[in-house]
Amino acid sequence: MSKQILILPGDGIGPEIMAEAVKVLELANDKFQLGFEFSEDVIGGAAIDKYGVPLADETLERAKAADAILLGAVGGPKWDKIERDIRPERGLLKIRSALGLFANLRPAILYPQLADASSLKREIVAGLDVLIVRELTGGIYFGAPRGSKTLENGERFAFDTLPYSESEISRIARVGFDMARVRGKKLCSVDKANVLASSQLWREVVEEVAKDYPDVELSHMYVDNAAMQLVRAPKQFDVLVTDNMFGDILSDQASMLTGSIGMLPSASLDANNKGMYEPSHGSAPDIAGQGIANPLATILSVSMLLRYTFNQAAAADAIEKAVGVVLDQGLRTGDIWSEGCKKVGTREMGDAVVSALRAL
Ligand code: NAD
Repeated sequence: MSKQILILPGDGIGPEIMAEAVKVLELANDKFQLGFEFSEDVIGGAAIDKYGVPLADETLERAKAADAILLGAVGGPKWDKIERDIRPERGLLKIRSALGLFANLRPAILYPQLADASSLKREIVAGLDVLIVRELTGGIYFGAPRGSKTLENGERFAFDTLPYSESEISRIARVGFDMARVRGKKLCSVDKANVLASSQLWREVVEEVAKDYPDVELSHMYVDNAAMQLVRAPKQFDVLVTDNMFGDILSDQASMLTGSIGMLPSASLDANNKGMYEPSHGSAPDIAGQGIANPLATILSVSMLLRYTFNQAAAADAIEKAVGVVLDQGLRTGDIWSEGCKKVGTREMGDAVVSALRAL
């Protein structure tokens, strides 16, 4: 049976970077005879414009039927002022939650060719390879009750809830341990157990799961310290596992250690490794439509899709190698450009990866 991949380009730079990623995916499909079939739909602002909601029921059904989803990014100023419950980001939260994509893997890898693009000193970041495992379907982004109102004294008031159950914590902890086991065998669990009840449970459950992984060295760190350590000495980390909101913030921070958010892919997996793959960055409305966005994060998301959902390590390795080749050739989009390199646009970068992949 053919394998179905749903393409959701989204908003802003989404369609531009997706066009390049799809070229790479189609070539990999032919070259490695993967038997993929593709279909495309809308999400986020594009879906609001078409259907009035950020994720239409029929799109969700197609996502459920697909084996994997490749997503660009959603959101933009055009939809910032609409009612909160139907904003573009709600489409993302809904698809993650409806598909049970509870494990978000966000690698922060510094390509040696880009060491000078980091805002940190070369010796602090050279060779960086950290994986952040973020819980994606629980915590404060989904917790109820939530809301806002005007109090009797006329003051505006808003609140959110941060809930975690034992099973939600143990399944994401297991993903963290499993990933650490095949990498550097070190897992750091990040929480705020000195203040939050949900974090106290988090720490207890992670300790319990650790008993099944005696070969992995477990440590705990408060999130404020983790934020500091990530810029002080990021190479001390192998795998970090943390909740939804802490992971959101720390993974963006970790991404900047590598020079550009435009380089970093991500995977969101369910319990059976069905996944949605997307760049770590947003829709970059400030550069949308200019043909200058970096497509490499989305192209590397294709590589993660091949590796994690389809177990096609050779094809995934080949794409990563092709990205290395174009960086060696000195090609750079504006976000990763430095003196002596050739500045290229989105399409030129995508074409270069396609050529490099074809030549491998
Ligand atoms: P952003 O990631 O879109 O942009 C941050 C900065 O990084 C901008 O200066 C942008 O130009 C730059 N940038 C991002 N991706 C780039 C790329 N591939 N190449 C070159 N430069 C790149 O974050 P933001 O500005 O905070 O958010 C913009 C919109 O994206 C908002 O509507 C936000 O809600 C949405 N957003 C969506 C997602 C997602 O779809 N997963 C994630 C984050 C933000």
